[in-house]
Amino acid sequence: MKTYQIATIPGDGIGKEVVPAGREVLAALAAETHGFRFQFEDFDWGGDYYRKHGVMMPADGLDALRGKDAILFGSAGDPDIPDHITLWGLRLKICQGFDQYANVRPTRILPGIDGPLKRCSAADLNWVIVRENSEGEYSGVGGRVHQGHPIEAATDVSMMTRVGVERILRFAFRLAQSRPRKLLTVITKSNAQRHAMVMWDEVALEVSRDFPDVKWDKELVDAATARMVNKPATLDTIVATNLHADILSDLAAALAGSLGIAPTGNIDPERRYPSMFEPIHGSAFDIMGKGLANPVGTFWSVVMLLEHLGEHDAAARVMAAIEHVTADTSLHTGDLGGTAKTVDVTRAVCDFLARKEERKAA
Ligand code: NAD
Ligand code: MN
Repeated sequence: MKTYQIATIPGDGIGKEVVPAGREVLAALAAETHGFRFQFEDFDWGGDYYRKHGVMMPADGLDALRGKDAILFGSAGDPDIPDHITLWGLRLKICQGFDQYANVRPTRILPGIDGPLKRCSAADLNWVIVRENSEGEYSGVGGRVHQGHPIEAATDVSMMTRVGVERILRFAFRLAQSRPRKLLTVITKSNAQRHAMVMWDEVALEVSRDFPDVKWDKELVDAATARMVNKPATLDTIVATNLHADILSDLAAALAGSLGIAPTGNIDPERRYPSMFEPIHGSAFDIMGKGLANPVGTFWSVVMLLEHLGEHDAAARVMAAIEHVTADTSLHTGDLGGTAKTVDVTRAVCDFLARKEERKAA
């Protein structure tokens, strides 16, 4: 039987609650499926590890992950440690170390979820945002000098390479081509950012010639926020730079009902390294440790993980379980206006996966 090696990294805050829930769902799935099983290895990296060792993860941490088939991640972010240390010391170390250059963020309004857009039906909002995940505004290039003096200066340099831009646009065109509408919107800001974003636009035009069956357009990032709210049905696949897509995808998650539902995959499309799947939310300091976190974002990330492994039937079953559970408002957590707890939602999803009749229907 095929055994998949899965690394779990809960990290901080509610990551420690939702990642074990995700692991439970994978285990419940494997128990009912006879084609494969999972071997988990859990890594206690994050804020607590930092307090003990002065680093978020060990120096040779990537070597421990290298042989895994996939990584399930929670969140990096601790109330007592500056955010740039937790983020760069763990999550970005893995994303950059494994060159997971495509960050993929599907957004839909799931059954039973009441989104904030009055004039938008669930069918109008079905997007995948592709975020450049290795360079751009978050390249880490920059510096700070003369700290604390009046002459202090600081830079965060947005660095874009032709290779980096071309590979993410190619990935996005290919993804758009694989979806029924074959529709891609390239987000830009080449009016104000007159160097790198102009190259971005040029490369988009070049790459588009290899995808004659994909309809595509360009939109300035600020206008794109209004279009997402006013005309959601005109969008399908969306590709944007690291910073632009970071912001647009939080907006997308909110328009779909809650940050607690939204999943993401940090993908190495060439499969040289393991890819990493995680809910898009953070540590949620205000609710951590209380069992109130919505685990659906993690479960949907599990669906993406299964798809990446090529287990499409299993992925569809977990997605069916998620939709079955969101349709029942008594299973909504606080972020959706309900009173259910993490364990209630997790148990309902696992129960659904164990039920034979519905398994056939799914
Ligand atoms: P956040 O996502 O942690 O929380 C924003 C709001 O959404 C909070 O009110 C929170 O309670 C709510 N929320 C988020 N996820 C939820 C869930 N699953 N169920 C119910 N409610 C949920 O964002 P923030 O407050 O900006 O950041 C907190 C910390 O997390 C910071 O340290 C930040 O750097 C970190 N962070 C990490 C990641 C990551 O590791 N990928 C992503 C975002 C934020
Ligand atoms: Mn973000």
